[in-house]
Amino acid sequence: MTDFKLIADTEWRKRLSPEEYHVLREAGTEAPHVGEYTNTTTEGVYSCRACGAELFRSTEKFESHCGWPSFFSPLAGDAVIEREDNSLGMRRIEVLCANCESHLGHVFEGEGYDTPTDLRYCINSICLDLEEKPVED
Ligand SMILES: [Zn+2]
Repeated sequence: MTDFKLIADTEWRKRLSPEEYHVLREAGTEAPHVGEYTNTTTEGVYSCRACGAELFRSTEKFESHCGWPSFFSPLAGDAVIEREDNSLGMRRIEVLCANCESHLGHVFEGEGYDTPTDLRYCINSICLDLEEKPVED
């Protein structure tokens, strides 16, 4: 099995489009409201576009109106890594794929959304691939 944490930068550039590389490997952010999954309500599982690991499910996706796909919980606690990000003069929590350590987005807490966790995993569409399939709750 490929150890995605060991893939060289040059290899990532071959595997990903320039836009995907910028967000996934350089912690970029796609423009709001343009991502293909922003308003998607299709039932299925969202995987990491860089490595294919399953990250989020449609059952935890909610309408946040923030302009990016939003989830109140990852598929499993160990599917993602959360770490402090102090870039841009803000204290935020960055969310990365646990399998390949690619950047996915950020998680925000205590915003008052009517969800079970009061967390908003704000994830770039370009970091995800949706596979349509039944999701068991
Ligand atoms: Zn990944």
